[in-house]
Amino acid sequence: MTPADSPLLPVYAPPEQVFVRGEGCWLWDEKGDKYLDCIAGIAVNALGHAPPVLQKALNEQAAKLWHTSNMFKVKGQEELANKYVAASFADVVFFTNSGTEAIEGALKMARKYHSASGQPDRIDIIGFHGSFHGRSYAAINAAGNASYLDGFGPSLPGFLHAPFGDIEAVKALINPETFAAIIIEPVQGEGGVRSAPDGFLAALRALCDKHCALLIFDEVQCGASRTGKIWAHEWDSVKPDVMAVAKGVGGGFPLGAFMATHEAAKGMTKGAHGSTYGGNPLAMAVGNAAFDELSKPEFLERVRQISNHLGQSLEGLKDRHPNLVEDVRGKGLLRGLKLKIDPKEVQAKLRTRKVLVGSAGENVLRLAPPLIIDEAQISQMVDAIDAVFAAYMSEAGA
Ligand code: PLP
Repeated sequence: MTPADSPLLPVYAPPEQVFVRGEGCWLWDEKGDKYLDCIAGIAVNALGHAPPVLQKALNEQAAKLWHTSNMFKVKGQEELANKYVAASFADVVFFTNSGTEAIEGALKMARKYHSASGQPDRIDIIGFHGSFHGRSYAAINAAGNASYLDGFGPSLPGFLHAPFGDIEAVKALINPETFAAIIIEPVQGEGGVRSAPDGFLAALRALCDKHCALLIFDEVQCGASRTGKIWAHEWDSVKPDVMAVAKGVGGGFPLGAFMATHEAAKGMTKGAHGSTYGGNPLAMAVGNAAFDELSKPEFLERVRQISNHLGQSLEGLKDRHPNLVEDVRGKGLLRGLKLKIDPKEVQAKLRTRKVLVGSAGENVLRLAPPLIIDEAQISQMVDAIDAVFAAYMSEAGA
């Protein structure tokens, strides 16, 4: 079907493959061709495709109860919230269906905090160039990417942006009368798989403390054990006041959350926010089972080990192809190769070799495989990238 014949809104331009089955790190298309999945639904299928432990949780719950809405207590919500609280800085959790909704809640919470503190004019939220927080109005304004804002009317007031890593630029944006919060991805995903420079998160923490503003971490992509710690910011030993998570925490089932300290959440009283589906019984069954796996010390240790192996393999690619690879970026199993050629072209060529990867801003080839990927699968991926790069070089006559 050509895009013009399709009943789908043409906001995506996917390749022709239609995947119909998945197991672990593998996907099969309608023709029966088998692919190595090194992008995992954009950092979602943390435990791989159709993991038995999540199938069991989902199937058992599906046979009992699907939905009642938050007008009633939902079994599993307090259990999962307690797990997040025990494994983080947070005291309270609100469950959502997606990362965007988690961000929306986090931003609303930041403004409500100041309003509840008697300072309703404190609405300024400082974000960073290259960030991505989702596609709602608040999320596109928080990220400030011109191409996502284009045509959707005037920018919302109170959203400011600084270059990623530039603390002086952040300071220059602060008006103490209107400063509410800073929002940052500890590892930028869409923007080019960039880790915050050493000391940057701590410097932001100090600025927020100085001005009684809130620090919000967007761990939608980099959280859920993807970097080898449950939350990516643990590497920097800096705690936020509010955090948004999604993607990997549901392992493929739509689930997100925003969580906060009691202090940061003080404005979010009865009626201040809500959701029909957020934290429904199916999501809670899967979310509890997923978090039990993702938070096991031996699971995290293995992610760190395999991440080191991936990092070394990518450095090897860079050494072998200095004319094509500029930089190896990211953390854990959220990695990027900054290329001197078009990553989308490389992505398409890898697909013909039955390896699926992503791309990101700044000319980056993005890798976000299931966290259960093994050394043999990493070798298969790296060999495929090597072969694609070698073909480029021989075409270029090098
Ligand atoms: N924040 C970050 C860092 C993301 O990478 C994404 C999605 O890619 C979002 C927020 C939005 O999440 P969702 O697409 O689940 O709404």
